[in-house]
Order: sequence, then structure tokens, then C-alpha cells
Amino acid sequence: MSPPCPLCGAKLPAGEQCRDRFDLCLAKEFENPATYGAVHHLTVACYMLQHNAYSRQGWLGTRALLVQFIQEGKTPAEVRAQNRRKLDSRQRKWSITTGEKISTEGLIWTRTIADVRLDNPDFYCADVELWAKSVLTDTEALIRDLNPATKRDG
Ligand SMILES: [Zn+2]
Repeated sequence: MSPPCPLCGAKLPAGEQCRDRFDLCLAKEFENPATYGAVHHLTVACYMLQHNAYSRQGWLGTRALLVQFIQEGKTPAEVRAQNRRKLDSRQRKWSITTGEKISTEGLIWTRTIADVRLDNPDFYCADVELWAKSVLTDTEALIRDLNPATKRDG
């Protein structure tokens, strides 16, 4: 076993890091767009959120996309069409990757990329969906803290 990932806590076999596993997932998805690739939008979002790869606004925007995919059942094409203007980099005043980051310290991740089985596309897609759901659940408290307006007063 490698030491647990400092960002998401994943425990992977010796010599393997989350980034290696992520690259393996992406390779499967690009080679098999109709099966493994069906959850590509979720894989990338989960990985980037857990590894805090984005700026604050990029992180919050990506989590909001996950809500649309998982809770509202939207397809990537629907979300793309709807966000075309909003995410157009020429109109966007902020960067997805650079800038102040959100603090994900102290978050406990229930599932990680290590829980995604790669040997079969059905398992793979099911595991990625469970992973995406868990990322939303695991970050609910963080989002509540960021939006005090939606907090209920005791
Ligand atoms: Zn990790």
C-alpha cells in the first residue's frame, strides 16, 4: 500500500498515486466512450473537487455541475448548452484553475478514486456514480457554512 493520499485519503497499492489511477480512468474512458466514457463528466469533477485542483469559483461551479448531473438528472449536453455563455472563457472574469482556493481541509471523503473498479464498464459507471453522490454528501456541510443565508437560525 502507498501512504493514504493527503488530499482525498485514498489508499492505493504501493507505487500508485491518485493521479496514476485518474490517468488510467481517463484512458479507459477515451478508449471506450460509449461505456466507460459515459461517466467522464463525473470522474473529472469528483477527482478535481477532492484534490482541490480548482480556484474557489471553479470548485463551487464544478460542485454545482455535479448537483445538476446527480440530483437534477441533467445530461452533460444539456448542462453544456445551458452554461455555454456562463463558462465561455472570453466572458468569464475568473479562472477555473488559478486564484484563491476553497479550504477542503478536514473534510472526510467517504469514497475515493480507489473505490472505482476498472475491470468492467458496468461496475465502473456504477462506482463513479456512487463516488459522485458521496462527494456531494461529504461537502454539504461545507456548502452550508459558505452560505449562511441558507442556514436556519436555531
Ligand atoms: Zn487522492
